Amino acid sequence: MCPNSTKNENIWFDELSMPEAEKAAKEGKVVIIPCGSVEEHGTHLPLCTDSLQAEYIALGVARKAGCLVAPPLRYGLCNSTRNFPGTITITFDSLRNIMVDILEDFVRNGFKKLLVITGHAGGSHMTAIKLAGKTVVTNHMNENDRPRIMVCSDYDFAFDLRGKDFDDRDSHAGTIETSRVMAIRSDLIKGKGMQNFPNLPRFEITPDPERYFPSGVMGDPTIASSNKGQKINNYVIDQIVKLVKELEQ
Ligand SMILES: [Zn+2]
Repeated sequence: MCPNSTKNENIWFDELSMPEAEKAAKEGKVVIIPCGSVEEHGTHLPLCTDSLQAEYIALGVARKAGCLVAPPLRYGLCNSTRNFPGTITITFDSLRNIMVDILEDFVRNGFKKLLVITGHAGGSHMTAIKLAGKTVVTNHMNENDRPRIMVCSDYDFAFDLRGKDFDDRDSHAGTIETSRVMAIRSDLIKGKGMQNFPNLPRFEITPDPERYFPSGVMGDPTIASSNKGQKINNYVIDQIVKLVKELEQ
């Protein structure tokens, strides 16, 4: 069964039948493609933390804005956490290629409005997905009904709240991320985690960045709460609903 889905809501793309998929394409439905990672998130959060958040937000947006949600890609490209136990990364080329394949085949099926939401927001991961989007829109740039693709992370919006409701250094597995997962899957939280605000070098390339955050955390998970998480998740959903409206124009 698809994650977070308990009944047939006609939201998960791959729960549609063939005629339903054809009809949805003709109707110009926006398809959201959630992307996550398999990545350490401290001692207190699961490896699927980024996937959970992207999928939860995708479903929330789809319910509000009437979109479809594609089967999630639960692998991503993780650099700074790579040497921790549990992080399973794919390469830049693999991520870019699979995203090109997925986006191109939605376009071939007649879906011209696509939105990738990635819960993992590392720099090279984002670049690989954006380049995939660029390849696909460029492939179709001379067509009348050319596809439109947006790529964002839910953290493009969640981090708006840093410096307001949250410490402006809060990041990986910190207050915001821990709160959000508490609100989505509290059963997967294991203890409180440990506060750590690392001083990562700005320019030096290091083979073992984990020595700056040995607990796997960048922020303060000890002050996280489900209540905070629900507010952040609602805020993110509302912001991404606006993106869908832009795509529909
Ligand atoms: Zn994360």
